[in-house]
Amino acid sequence: MSIFDHCAYSQHEQVHFVSDKSTGLNAIIAVHDTRLGPAVGGCRIHAYPSSQDALSDALRLSQAMTYKNVLAGLPFGGGKSVIIADPQTEKTSEMLEVFGTYIDQLGGKYIAAEDSGTSPSDMAHIAKTTQHVAGLSTEHSDGDPSPATARGVLVSIQTAAEHKLGRRQLEGLSVVVQGLGHVGFELAKLLMREGAIVYGSDANQENLNRAAQELEVHPVDVNSCLSMPCDILAPCALGGVLNEHNIPNLAMKIVAGAANNQLATPQDAIRLADRGILYCPDFLINSGGILDIYHRRTNASANVILDAEKSFLDRLTVVLETAARHSTTPYQVASHMAEQLREMDTEALLPKQAA
Ligand code: NAD
Repeated sequence: MSIFDHCAYSQHEQVHFVSDKSTGLNAIIAVHDTRLGPAVGGCRIHAYPSSQDALSDALRLSQAMTYKNVLAGLPFGGGKSVIIADPQTEKTSEMLEVFGTYIDQLGGKYIAAEDSGTSPSDMAHIAKTTQHVAGLSTEHSDGDPSPATARGVLVSIQTAAEHKLGRRQLEGLSVVVQGLGHVGFELAKLLMREGAIVYGSDANQENLNRAAQELEVHPVDVNSCLSMPCDILAPCALGGVLNEHNIPNLAMKIVAGAANNQLATPQDAIRLADRGILYCPDFLINSGGILDIYHRRTNASANVILDAEKSFLDRLTVVLETAARHSTTPYQVASHMAEQLREMDTEALLPKQAA
């Protein structure tokens, strides 16, 4: 298939393929929409099996960032970058610095931040060659947006539990966290504090051991974690984990996690609803980190931060209630809301035509 035939390609403003032989850099920068502001989105480093897989991921992730940012009420568009490399063995500071020069050439259209496979220290390397990078450590913060993302997901899980199970308290509920990296580990910690019984899996044995030893998370095998009966599944690894093949075997009541693009296709939202599983759209509930980045960039006051967090959580309640009232899925309601807000805000920003 040609890249121009990719189903998500036509909706993007720009897609850049960048490569540097001397550092082994192979990357894609996808800019989905900059009508509301610069395209802000994480830089993911992953050992993709093929460049086609990397492209699919970049395109889907950047579109999800547009939805996430507009639903969170941020003056940002959506974009994402992916570097095709194993973050454990192939990532180097030289590679990141060269990558920064390519981001710089876009003149601020795309602003990079952390994602799976990158950390605040990686952002510091990118920042050596471009100013268009967020999530840097300062004297007040270590720069990592993951704890804020985890906090947003926790409150969303509580909201979903109230909606689906009639109780906000998580005490005694079983939660499976798939992926115990930056966000998953923080989320597991918060869930334990709430009295939930937390199970976790990770493809990386070191991360699994750390969560088991430091938090007493119950380890679950990577291959069986999705089919394990539980109250709540929190996907916090990579995308596309819920699909037509595994949804018939799922045995949880709620899915609410941080991972971007948890559904392989939009139809999977209907498949989950048909099984009686409440799916909280990822782009609606995982914006705690990007909100945190925005608030740090603008030196927001504590009150502004509280108001913003409250309003994005209120949106989940509106989405869940609207979906229930209209017998549709939260995914469809949230996607529709994002599209509407995107158009509405854009018009408001455009200069008024003379009468
Ligand atoms: P991370 O790389 O720190 O953690 C991901 C973890 O998932 C790793 O420990 C990895 O080993 C594990 N993993 C990979 N495949 C797995 C599998 N099949 N089963 C179990 N574990 C697996 O990434 P992160 O920053 O914690 O982000 C996690 C997800 O949340 C990503 O999809 C990311 O895009 C999304 N997200 C992150 C943030 C943030 O603030 N970091 C914000 C919004 C969304």
